[in-house]
Amino acid sequence: ACGMELLRDPHYNKGLAFSEKEREYHYLTGLLPPTILTQQMQEKRILHNLRTYQDPLQKYVAMMDLQERNERLFYKVLIDNVEELLPIVYTPTVGEACQKYGSIFRRPRGLYISLKERGKILEVFKNWPEKLVQVIVVTDGERILGLGDLGCQGMGIPVGKLALYTALGGVRPSACLPITIDVGTNNETLLNDPFYIGLRRRRAIGEEYTSFIDEFMHAVKKSYGEKVLIQFEDFANHNAFELLEKYQKTHLVFNDDIQGTAVVVLGGLLASLKLTGGTLAEHTFLFLGAGEAGTGIAELIASEIALQGNVSLQEARKRIWMVDSKGLIVKSRLDSLQRHKKNFAHEHEECRDLISAVKALKPSVLIGCSGQRSTFTKEVLETLASFNMKPVVMALSNPTSHAECTAEEAYRWTQGRAIFGSGSPFDPVRLNEKVHVTGQANNAYIFPGTGLGIIMSGAIRVHEDMLLAAARVLADQVSKENMDNGLIYPPFQNIRKISANIAAGVAAKAYELGLATKLPQPSNLVACAESCMYSPQYRKYR
Ligand code: NAP
Ligand code: MN
Repeated sequence: ACGMELLRDPHYNKGLAFSEKEREYHYLTGLLPPTILTQQMQEKRILHNLRTYQDPLQKYVAMMDLQERNERLFYKVLIDNVEELLPIVYTPTVGEACQKYGSIFRRPRGLYISLKERGKILEVFKNWPEKLVQVIVVTDGERILGLGDLGCQGMGIPVGKLALYTALGGVRPSACLPITIDVGTNNETLLNDPFYIGLRRRRAIGEEYTSFIDEFMHAVKKSYGEKVLIQFEDFANHNAFELLEKYQKTHLVFNDDIQGTAVVVLGGLLASLKLTGGTLAEHTFLFLGAGEAGTGIAELIASEIALQGNVSLQEARKRIWMVDSKGLIVKSRLDSLQRHKKNFAHEHEECRDLISAVKALKPSVLIGCSGQRSTFTKEVLETLASFNMKPVVMALSNPTSHAECTAEEAYRWTQGRAIFGSGSPFDPVRLNEKVHVTGQANNAYIFPGTGLGIIMSGAIRVHEDMLLAAARVLADQVSKENMDNGLIYPPFQNIRKISANIAAGVAAKAYELGLATKLPQPSNLVACAESCMYSPQYRKYR
């Protein structure tokens, strides 16, 4: 491309950073004002502009505009300021953006596949301009973050997640494909909204739904081959487990809500062992919430215990107890339990609520993934602290207003003894002269690096051992100094390095399992990961 076309192509546009020579050679003279800026200066200007906006949604729109205009600058700004901009490009702001997608919608991004395309999904893929796709993030919009059914407007999620695949994991932007499958919505507000961008019908269910997803999954493989990673994102609980179980046998699939969460939490728990002492198997785990996050985490903990302690999975699961909306999950409830909960229905009398379960089971680790705020009450945490020197407390529910407890509460009600991690960020807490810094169990620690490891090894399946490897690498990234501050997650600003290490760990396991197809195996996987990570530095055009 040259001239105006070049300026309008976000993959190649550099704006005022085109040099004198480039302007001459590519017919840009006169199309740009005379000043030439470095990428650093452009970045400064963008940041300055962003910071003048009060409303996070305005910042979101500005960032999306930048992505549309100048992709490399977008990634440069995002990578260099990841802690500041992650909450804009991703949760929580992306949630608000999805809710208002109809009205902030400017240029389409990603692929929309609606029921209208049944029987023709393969044709739809042909319209996507990139042929070499390595990662797909797909949603059907039924459970967007904690916001529920946003139908077709869920597109903000795959777009945001893939921006993180590139910024944090170094996957090339052109290899990333965001997809929204529109099978209708049950959101009445959207159905009645004249500006709603999706299909105006109620959600397809049963055979109508599964056969459509099946056509989609086959079309993906046909279009992009065996080695494209398909990340399921924000599907409702009743479909998520089934889709993962069904397609992990035939496709390279990963569910971030179930598996990504599990890895990041297990990583934090493994790190916390260095503070509590003992092994994972010596702990008793109690969950509040037994949904995608809860049972995903529980199953991965059980796998790690089984592996470390050389015991059966069934034995390992006995260390783990779960409370759902009906109380403690026990054997006597077995017949009425959803499939994913059954493995954790142990022999015990019924407990109606969390506090009675805490008293009866005396857990050492308490994990909240219920979406219910203030459920880790003073009584719950004081009781927990009464039989644990260092109780581990994870309040994972997002956003902040849904957290089971705040960081301050966790420390105050355990006399500052808790090891605390949360789903949403909390500021450091000062209590009795001591400052407690908290770690955030952010899935963004995990999925970009895991994805990179899968891509660089050419893995054809996601094996659970690869996930366990990722969790261990994450735990190893927490330094002694971080630990001394009570942190069970490494500082996020090092995320590219963390991702490279996770990628190397995942890839190593893929090779070991014989699931890798990129042969021969590179001798130094960390160096290999770092060298294949996308860099947003401008390139010189001849
Ligand atoms: P989900 O699949 O809908 O599961 C929610 C679970 O909570 C269900 O088992 C539900 O019980 C239970 N529950 C609801 N109200 C309850 C109550 N009052 N008492 C006890 N249990 C209750 O949702 P999810 O995807 O697992 O997500 C749950 C939460 O975790 C969300 O807030 C999400 O933001 C958070 N999360 C955080 C991270 C992270 O920090 N990295 C990652 C993923 C999710 P029933 O089964 O009986 O309905
Ligand atoms: Mn999600």
